[in-house]
Amino acid sequence: MTIYLNGQYMPVEEAKISVLDRGFIFGDGVYEVIPVYTRRAFRLAEHLRRLQHSLDGIRLQNPHSDDAWTNLISELIARNAGEDQYLYLHITRGAAKRDHAFPNPPVRATVFMMSSPLTVPPAALLQSGVCAVTAPDNRWLRCDIKAIALLPNVLLRQMAVDAGCAETILIRSGSNNEGAFMTEGAASNIFVVKNGKLLAPPKDNLMLPGITYDVILEIAAANGIPHEVRRIAVAEVFAADELLLTSSTKEVLAITQLDGKPVGSGKPGAMFARLHGLYQDFKRDVMRA
Ligand code: PMP
Repeated sequence: MTIYLNGQYMPVEEAKISVLDRGFIFGDGVYEVIPVYTRRAFRLAEHLRRLQHSLDGIRLQNPHSDDAWTNLISELIARNAGEDQYLYLHITRGAAKRDHAFPNPPVRATVFMMSSPLTVPPAALLQSGVCAVTAPDNRWLRCDIKAIALLPNVLLRQMAVDAGCAETILIRSGSNNEGAFMTEGAASNIFVVKNGKLLAPPKDNLMLPGITYDVILEIAAANGIPHEVRRIAVAEVFAADELLLTSSTKEVLAITQLDGKPVGSGKPGAMFARLHGLYQDFKRDVMRA
């Protein structure tokens, strides 16, 4: 595996960073995950835009222009095996004497990228769907930043694994007169389907604006699928006809069991089948263009 670190491509075994790196010490950095199909990065412009949003959110200057990123990414793809890959980009505030405040003057950001084989969910999983559990969303209030500090997500996702499930659906307790509502999964976005309508939580500070989430809503709009973006009460999650999970690596999956009880019929539903099919078409068309 060939990785990129601070201007150089090298075998992963040779890559070294300082123990004083602020990513290591404070989790002071951001990241991106970009799927690559037939050696082309999917929705690269959108991923680079989200990366810029994350960097702005932590007040870290983007070390590269979009053109420079595009070239670095192309080179990384070329140096790794596999038509389909998934790229991980990671930028930290660099190595400096340990102090919470930003280094002044700023130090060079650490830029790391790696490629891994991309495996989309197998047919059996598409047919069965996956199970999920729910848990209180105990993360911070800037979940729109794709921060490398993922300890809450790690602990929340492990709850799903401990239950033999694929994902943990996060529930924020409401404030003032608002009841509890769903935000997203520990590592995915979540959609609710009720009476033929696709419901999506709003892109605000409480969830990561998923690239796949956007694609799904674009597909829904383009194909006349009824959809609505709004807060989703916890009761609506439990009363859903279907629940869908989306992410760059999982694409679209049906959640067929929640906290041990069947979701709707307990089988992947019509909306899942339609959106999964349309997502595959969309991918193919984009990569062909
Ligand atoms: N929310 C969270 C918390 C995530 O970590 C991810 C990605 N793993 C997503 C949503 C989905 O985002 P994307 O579709 O861009 O992969």
